[in-house]
Amino acid sequence: MLNAHQQQILRLLVASHGMSRTAIAEKMKLSKAAISTLIKTMLQAGLLEESVPANTGQGRPSVLLKMRADSAYFLGASLLDEDVCLVLIDMHGHILASTTLTRDPTPARLAEAIAAAIPGLLAQQQISPDQLIGLGVTLSGFVDEHQAVCVQSALLGWQQVPLAALLQAQTGLEITLENDAKALAVSEKMFGVAKKARNFSLISHGDGIGSAHFFAGQLHRGAHGGAGEIAHCTIEPGGRPCRCGKRGCLDTLASLTAIRESMRENALPCHSLIELEQLAMKGNSAAIAILHQAGQALGLAIASLIQMTDPELIVIAHQPDAFEGLLKTVMLQAIDSHVLPAIVGKTPLSSIVIQPESWARAAASVAAYRFIVQLPD
Ligand SMILES: [Zn+2]
Repeated sequence: MLNAHQQQILRLLVASHGMSRTAIAEKMKLSKAAISTLIKTMLQAGLLEESVPANTGQGRPSVLLKMRADSAYFLGASLLDEDVCLVLIDMHGHILASTTLTRDPTPARLAEAIAAAIPGLLAQQQISPDQLIGLGVTLSGFVDEHQAVCVQSALLGWQQVPLAALLQAQTGLEITLENDAKALAVSEKMFGVAKKARNFSLISHGDGIGSAHFFAGQLHRGAHGGAGEIAHCTIEPGGRPCRCGKRGCLDTLASLTAIRESMRENALPCHSLIELEQLAMKGNSAAIAILHQAGQALGLAIASLIQMTDPELIVIAHQPDAFEGLLKTVMLQAIDSHVLPAIVGKTPLSSIVIQPESWARAAASVAAYRFIVQLPD
């Protein structure tokens, strides 16, 4: 069992790419001798490892401490596609094993199927069940503030489904549910481009649009778990009807679903964003107009976000090969022209590509994040 100081050391290491004993001592305002004693126990317990950075010629480099990849394992299940993707990750976020299952729409049967697949994943890597810390699940829809109940998911056709309890009964594991964009933001915070960022927002761009926000190093879920519904911010008052019942939402202008709909309305000879970009490059005015509209809408929404929260980083998560070109150019121009001159160009944008296993890995990251943030103080 870790004491409070050792738990704090774990949290510091998760938010870094490795720290020296001296840096940890400074952060925690403890003596280096006290830190060394704490770390010795954690090294012996197999939680941490030491690495020596390459010598840069400026004195002996400090030994850096990191969490060991094999110090803990997590499972993640994505319910976003036709098939359920289930992955096993280590403490560095590497996918060690994965499988896919048919997504049974009945929650109890789905929980049974996921539970039945777990022993096979562990056996592939010769990991014993007691090394497994938890299972995260990501889905499209609303998750309650306790991250235990799927309040509503149009994709799954669920209302008030207590999925965590069903899965817990089947697996005996701690279960954490999370909405898709929030899970992806957690994944980038734990293992990706936002590891060191304390305040950042992630925008996911696909058939729908999602967002999630970290403030002061913590995921902001909102009072009811509903923070981040950027897709339904009104960008064009009185505009196209949205599936949410309102009009002119960001989703109706900039999601891939909306872009494909505009292609059909204009009878354009293309079916994907890449083909639309190619058509625009050839000078097709309808293709250019669709991309302008989508880029402008995304840029406006992101500019408002920057104006309200002043994040240190924006992460755009997009489909493979689908976010370069005119859409991105217009979006960047719209961001610059709609934020106050004093902060123009001060918010770096990072983009990541959503791969087939990204959502399941994000789900597993949610379990890892819970493990770290819920360490008692
Ligand atoms: Zn809407």
